[in-house]
Amino acid sequence: MPFPTSDVNFDFSDSMGEVNPLLSDVLTSLLERNQKFATGLERDHRELLKTLSKGQKPTVCWIGCSDSRVPEGSVCQTYPGEIFTIRNVANQWNEKDDSAAAALTFAIEALGVEDVIIVGHTSCGGVSAAIAGASSGPPAETASSSLGRYLVPLTKHAYQIKQEATEELSPPAFVKKLTTENVKKQLENLKASEVIQRNWTTGESTLVPGKVCKKVRLHGWVHDISTGKLHDLNVSVAPPS
Ligand SMILES: [Zn+2]
Repeated sequence: MPFPTSDVNFDFSDSMGEVNPLLSDVLTSLLERNQKFATGLERDHRELLKTLSKGQKPTVCWIGCSDSRVPEGSVCQTYPGEIFTIRNVANQWNEKDDSAAAALTFAIEALGVEDVIIVGHTSCGGVSAAIAGASSGPPAETASSSLGRYLVPLTKHAYQIKQEATEELSPPAFVKKLTTENVKKQLENLKASEVIQRNWTTGESTLVPGKVCKKVRLHGWVHDISTGKLHDLNVSVAPPS
């Protein structure tokens, strides 16, 4: 008998009663606000809760930055179940990142996601770190810290932009350029990825035998933290016909 993935009633009574001494005021506030959120859902969207308990059918996959200021559900005013999310430092797509590849494969080949969006944002710490790393010459192939290693491709990209600029870029111009070019570069990486290439050719699911997936479209957006607005870079890519 397969393990059920839905309609399993959890009993959390064991963890209730005594106060957790490690809960800070911030965490207590989060739990209190969650209670209000859950109460509102129960009051106004009971059917949605029932539907979500049975499974998820998002049509959009959001590949964004881990930055706390770009929460996809808040900035798009979505309900649970609408956006499947992959977030990492500076909204990268790295083919060797099994976590991201596994999530996107599941999103497309099991859930039937139709649109994948790379979402960059203004004042991205990863972008700034890459520019700083590119300021002192060609970036190394590796780094001593996990963050440095993760940002090697973006740091190389920053260095390339710096080398190819016909005149010296001001710091704001450099940040703006790398922010938007990074989104476009990640779209290119995504286009070349195993999961997208499989989707655009055979369309076969490696997760559900016999299933032929919808062919996905790819998009590039940038979120402006100073206004809260998302901007479509209009670099969308349709599957080859
Ligand atoms: Zn960021």
